Amino acid sequence: MKENPALHKVIENMKPGVISLHGFMGKDSRSLDAIIEHDAAELDRLGVNAIVIAIKLEEIRDTALKGLGNFVNLGDGFLVKADSIRGKLPCPFDHPGLFRKTVITIQDREDGSEFCYTDLGIHMIREHGFFQGKGSPFRIEPVKIAKILKKI
Ligand SMILES: [Zn+2]
Repeated sequence: MKENPALHKVIENMKPGVISLHGFMGKDSRSLDAIIEHDAAELDRLGVNAIVIAIKLEEIRDTALKGLGNFVNLGDGFLVKADSIRGKLPCPFDHPGLFRKTVITIQDREDGSEFCYTDLGIHMIREHGFFQGKGSPFRIEPVKIAKILKKI
């Protein structure tokens, strides 16, 4: 069977250096569909889904933006900040429009651990159920974030 040309373009866009320096697949050798399905199944077991998570991540981003680059207390032991980097990125799934390069960092005050996500990352989670491949610098582990978001 001939490969779907639209899907081929998406897969190309995910590679390092096409849209972002590190790309979106990390070291993950699974197909895009396999990654999306696996993450969706894990979230399903926790009784949440990608859209619920994306909405919460947007709310947290909006709180973070009020800190103008400084950490803001998120309550219940978490801090958050937003760093805006110049420039914009398109969606690798070939959607129209561009996304700001805002990096949002959530820090657990208890152990100092941090994780980061971006505006484009929120979009890919919300619209495509895509949390990025394992090893991608901005992959969010769905189970980990779902557990953290329950506390915030
Ligand atoms: Zn998109």
